[in-house]
Amino acid sequence: MSEPTPPTVQDEARWALIFALQQEGVRDREVLDAMEATPRKLFLDGIFRARAYENIPLPISCGQTISQPSVVGLMTQALQVDRRCKVLEIGAGSGYQAGVLSHLARRVYTIERHRPLARQARAALQEMGADNVTVVTGDGTSGLPEQAPFDRIIVTAAAEDPPSILLEQLRVGGIMVLPVGQSDTVQHLIKVIKTADGLEYSELGDVRFVPLLEGVAEDIADG
Ligand code: SAH
Repeated sequence: MSEPTPPTVQDEARWALIFALQQEGVRDREVLDAMEATPRKLFLDGIFRARAYENIPLPISCGQTISQPSVVGLMTQALQVDRRCKVLEIGAGSGYQAGVLSHLARRVYTIERHRPLARQARAALQEMGADNVTVVTGDGTSGLPEQAPFDRIIVTAAAEDPPSILLEQLRVGGIMVLPVGQSDTVQHLIKVIKTADGLEYSELGDVRFVPLLEGVAEDIADG
């Protein structure tokens, strides 16, 4: 019988990250498993790959950031996704959050306003085998009317208020999680539940995200 392969430094870093997520309050076993099954290094470039399993946000192309893993975990946990859910994400960025959601949801649509980022996200998601995710280049403030309504909506860029167009595209009984507040100050992570009688809001803590901007970006370098 052959000896089991010893864990690599990267295996150990991945386990340490899962432990850090639990310390930060990510307790849902399915969310932890989804994060363990999503190699964050696929969503990073060059020198940042070596730091993929640290619990920190990191730079990605087009001046944007991949979120801190514990924030991804807490937002995913708050979204309460199950296999029946059709999920919309605004702000694909690297595609990492969408990759985590792909393990939990039936279908994921994610919108990105920077074309080069959308292209990279698509490639990374394909490499990880996330075939239930569609990356759309466009302005997420309009949502995705042709696929609405959604069971869950997650916004990973900060708006001053929950965008009403997105609330309209949320199914009754659906959940939306998003950061709200000015982009250069502390923002609040909000959970909105849409009921037959209206909207129920709860606050999940403070976060810091790049701003939700209108329109598709005019990227000079389209690579
Ligand atoms: N969820 C990402 C992190 C997102 S950073 C990840 O897992 O890596 C926020 C992203 O939102 C940025 O890439 C930014 O370009 C994008 N964004 C901002 N406003 C947007 C809009 N109106 N429509 C689509 N994407 C938007």
